[in-house]
Amino acid sequence: MVVSSRIVPHLLVLSLLAAGCARPLAAREPVEYALSWEAVASPTFLDKDVASVLGARLERDAATISLDGMCAFGRPGTPAGGQGDQERQKVFAAAFRGTGHLRLAPNLPTEKRQLVLHSGHEVLDTEFSEAVLVFTDNTFEELAPHLSFQPTDPGELRILYNERKNSWTHYGLNWEPRVLKGLLAAQPQPHALFVAELNTRQHGWLTFVLDAADPEEVELHQLDASQQRRSVWTKFPVEGRDPRHVFTEPLARHEYRVQRYALDVSVNKDAELKAVTEVQFTVRRPGERVLLFALDPNLRVSKVTRADGRDLSFFQPDDPHDRFFLGDYLVVVSSAPFPTGENHLRFEYAGERVIRKVGAGNYFCQSFGWYPTFSDGRSGASLTRNQFAVRVDFDLTLRVPGEFLAVATGKKVDQVQQEDTYVTRWRSEIPLAAAGFAFGEYKVVTRQAGETSIEVYANKNPHDAFRSLPMVGGLGRFRNPTEVGPVLLALQSMNPSRLADEVAIEVGNSLQLMEKVFGPYPYSKLAVTNIPYAYGQGWPSLIYVSMLSFLDSFQRDAFGLRDHVQLTDTFRAHETSHQWWGHAVGWKSYHDQWLSEGFAEFSGMLYAMLRREPGEYFRLLREGRQRLLEHDETQTVYEAIGPLYAGRRLSSADHPGGYPVVVYQKGAWVLHMLRMMLYDPQNTKNPDERFMAMMHDFTRTYFNQPASTEDFKAIVEKHMLPHMDVDGNGKMDWFFDSWVYGTGIPEYQFEYNVEPGPQEGQYLLSGVLRQSGVRSDFRSLVPLFFHQGKNMIRAGWLRVRGPETPFQTLLPFRPDQVTINEGEDVLCIVK
Ligand SMILES: [Zn+2]
Repeated sequence: MVVSSRIVPHLLVLSLLAAGCARPLAAREPVEYALSWEAVASPTFLDKDVASVLGARLERDAATISLDGMCAFGRPGTPAGGQGDQERQKVFAAAFRGTGHLRLAPNLPTEKRQLVLHSGHEVLDTEFSEAVLVFTDNTFEELAPHLSFQPTDPGELRILYNERKNSWTHYGLNWEPRVLKGLLAAQPQPHALFVAELNTRQHGWLTFVLDAADPEEVELHQLDASQQRRSVWTKFPVEGRDPRHVFTEPLARHEYRVQRYALDVSVNKDAELKAVTEVQFTVRRPGERVLLFALDPNLRVSKVTRADGRDLSFFQPDDPHDRFFLGDYLVVVSSAPFPTGENHLRFEYAGERVIRKVGAGNYFCQSFGWYPTFSDGRSGASLTRNQFAVRVDFDLTLRVPGEFLAVATGKKVDQVQQEDTYVTRWRSEIPLAAAGFAFGEYKVVTRQAGETSIEVYANKNPHDAFRSLPMVGGLGRFRNPTEVGPVLLALQSMNPSRLADEVAIEVGNSLQLMEKVFGPYPYSKLAVTNIPYAYGQGWPSLIYVSMLSFLDSFQRDAFGLRDHVQLTDTFRAHETSHQWWGHAVGWKSYHDQWLSEGFAEFSGMLYAMLRREPGEYFRLLREGRQRLLEHDETQTVYEAIGPLYAGRRLSSADHPGGYPVVVYQKGAWVLHMLRMMLYDPQNTKNPDERFMAMMHDFTRTYFNQPASTEDFKAIVEKHMLPHMDVDGNGKMDWFFDSWVYGTGIPEYQFEYNVEPGPQEGQYLLSGVLRQSGVRSDFRSLVPLFFHQGKNMIRAGWLRVRGPETPFQTLLPFRPDQVTINEGEDVLCIVK
């Protein structure tokens, strides 16, 4: 397997000569050569750069790394005409063997708990025997006083470096883009990077990162070789800052911001994509010569051109040929710094595996990676890279084979049927987080839902994927042979277009429900298309839903797909609701992604309730609670893996299901609990009026912008009712601390007694609510219900804090029964 990065032919001189430039830059800027991509990808470990290291301590925020042993240092590979002294400044890699020690002590309580989950300890204190360092900060200068150079062959240490580098590459983790960027920048500080991969005694290889370009600079992660997974053990901002404050302006550290894309994309019947993409962007920091983009490496770039017509050098990982992922960076290098302010780049690229032919007239266009987007150079391994905090204008020209139809995000502003090509042009009505498209042999069904046109593009032929789907129990389970015929017929006619009308009606219904509950739909159309997988994805004004959602109930039965509501109503409504959760309102950081997935899951349940019956809503809620309380493969209760706020970090090698279970299910519960606290049973016309007012306020306030958990909390505080003011300070900290920033599902034991009161006709209700299974500071608000005959009313709320909440009150009547939590108002277990 090829593991090195592909070297795009040789840098500036060649490309500038090819562009007819009369001024070769080589003589003028020798550093160009010294810091070429190749030099960074394959550092040179010289005999003279081997040293013994004694008593060195590197302080990196909450971490201390000490080193005693032998070290070999790496510098940019053999430059043509490089100069010795200058090079020494550029040492950026080291391999170490000896006795090392890592101590990492996070300050934040949640980070201590995450470290306990992964390592068993609140403070990581471990020895290591080998280390590989990559850095663009002053590590080398810090180590210098502790080094005695002993020129010798660095053989083994060089091998160690290369082995570790190869293992990173297999995870799609490449530090080269960041090293090159840091070394070529006029101001290296904003890019300062320190990576230490340490072979520890207790835990094997661990990677510590301190990255100035990341709002949460400090990170410790482990790469799991067997599962190809990366587990983030801890991640937090430097200097003890609160992670809630560092993403306030999520793009603050981006040195450039994209404003507009003009894309000209052609696809052919063999699913090859060719594109010319012009990117307009603003450079916000002077002295930047390297810009990092992300692009699917299946798309091979042939040219990157500046507005003045000059070609620029660029680097991509090897073509993965479908076999492996080596990162998705696209590194663009200029011989002179990009000017601050408006810039333009034109990218030409093509590739075969970004679109897949999945049946006759049936194509799957992946939603991500088909045009260059901002990147921090850390490929899929970046938690901080967040497309959904960005909003950009798109102008997309799409050319597909003439017999097909096409649909894309934005508004269709033009269409031309040429001889063998169907050309459409799509413009974003408002800036969007992402653009996507679909094409194929479609049946199109259009319906109006209020102001919005619902357009279903359903394939006329079934996906090939259906051939490989196992049928549950085979046809043998149909005892009567006369039943088999209809089944085969039904399965043969699994072209999604049969269900197009039903899907159009349901998506229209979903959209109108969401508009009522959450606020106006942001775009003029909503297109829906089927994809050959079991998931869906919502792009602005274009949603991709699973082919399974295009099966009728008979077909779903034949495939053993039991939960029809989850596959149809809830699923489609979930995807539809991402028009609000992700697009109408984005999210600021990975911590806040529950505002998208949790809210979407809730939206799906809400639709099931209104489309079917309230029982469906409660069934889905209870199933969600059940999921949260189940144990995963390591016998950890899903809910206990971490707080909602940990976002994607909830999934790790040991706990792969953490993210989908906690973020989707608990996220939905959080919104449900807010709904129930705001629920007004007196308002018979619309008991959800207050909840809806809050959600409308949220989508209006953050319209087409990203929001954070704290932003949402502020909106909740604006709409909270007096009974929700548990701490008497007008804040909802108690709620978010318990359910979003903390973990725990409480168990409640409720005891009460009703006896005659001091006066005739009065009754004294007294009792206690016992809380267990959560930390002692866990707070919640639990409603009491009075039952009288067949009637039940919500009578009040108990402010629960600590293990016992006693209460008593005088009543003018004697209730038949008193209970708690009848509306599943709180995520809890009632004993
Ligand atoms: Zn979703």
